[in-house]
Amino acid sequence: MSCNVVWLFLERGKTMVDIVPMVMCKTNEFWQKQVVGSKGSVYTVTFDALSHKRHDVVCDFSCTCQAYKFGKKYCKHIEAVKGDRCGWHQQFDGGEAINGKCPQCGGEIVGIVVGV
Ligand SMILES: [Zn+2]
Ligand SMILES: [Zn+2]
Repeated sequence: MSCNVVWLFLERGKTMVDIVPMVMCKTNEFWQKQVVGSKGSVYTVTFDALSHKRHDVVCDFSCTCQAYKFGKKYCKHIEAVKGDRCGWHQQFDGGEAINGKCPQCGGEIVGIVVGV
């Protein structure tokens, strides 16, 4: 799963695309979940733009365990909980915020602008 957030940085005076204000679930920017490993250790799986080691996407999952640190792909902790992240994005998933909350998980939303 890759980050589907499209960030658009606009320079003053440039109108290359139509800009539409939209909202997305805050879990597209930051999401964390604690996972208890097989030996009882607690690891933290994070989805954000800073912690992961992929260079081809903006946001991705990372984990605090050794398997993630030295492995190439997602560790079993990420695999176990990555489906729990909401990731609702109005541009790609459609729908509307409900009472200022994410329609999918009821969590916080953040405003964005997207080019269409
Ligand atoms: Zn892990
Ligand atoms: Zn959500």
